[in-house]
Amino acid sequence: MNAIPMNDPRQFQFDLPSNSIPPAPLNEVIHRRAWAAAPLSTSPRENPDIELIVIHATAGSTTDGAVSVMAEGRASFHWAVPGPSEAEHEAFVWACAPETRAAWHVRNSCCHSAICAGARRLNHRSLGIEIVNTQRGAPFTEWQITATAEIIRYARAKYPHLRHVVSHARLDPVRRTDPGHYFPWTNLMERALSI
Ligand SMILES: [Zn+2]
Repeated sequence: MNAIPMNDPRQFQFDLPSNSIPPAPLNEVIHRRAWAAAPLSTSPRENPDIELIVIHATAGSTTDGAVSVMAEGRASFHWAVPGPSEAEHEAFVWACAPETRAAWHVRNSCCHSAICAGARRLNHRSLGIEIVNTQRGAPFTEWQITATAEIIRYARAKYPHLRHVVSHARLDPVRRTDPGHYFPWTNLMERALSI
């Protein structure tokens, strides 16, 4: 049997301890097309502090597909974690927008009582990660989960106010289900907290 437990992505959240950890370098490469689009698909931050990371999945099978949305000025995110059909898988993550800018990955009206005391306009307090996955049952790879945990560790070391790691579905439960029922949230949490 190859049973994958069904999870409810609207429940995906874990909080980070407040102790500081040593700097954790990130194996990232700037995605030129995304970076070039970032000035027109991100905003100056209204809040100085990064308080949460939002986990997304693309619903497509390529980084370029996700980056096209940025190039069209419709949405944006800070990192893309390549999928198993891409050459960069098991090599590095793509940096797609400057962390100093607010990316457009959560609707401004979205909020949750367990996150930033119910604040809205969460893009201004967050970093967004897009993980390349079709969300049609193809498993997320071990490398993708490790790479995502490493982004969380990097950000935790860099941003002392970072507290929450949440799914897009938790913040926008009516419209969004990503990163999806097949995402191994417990696995991500354990890796992010153990390193
Ligand atoms: Zn999303």
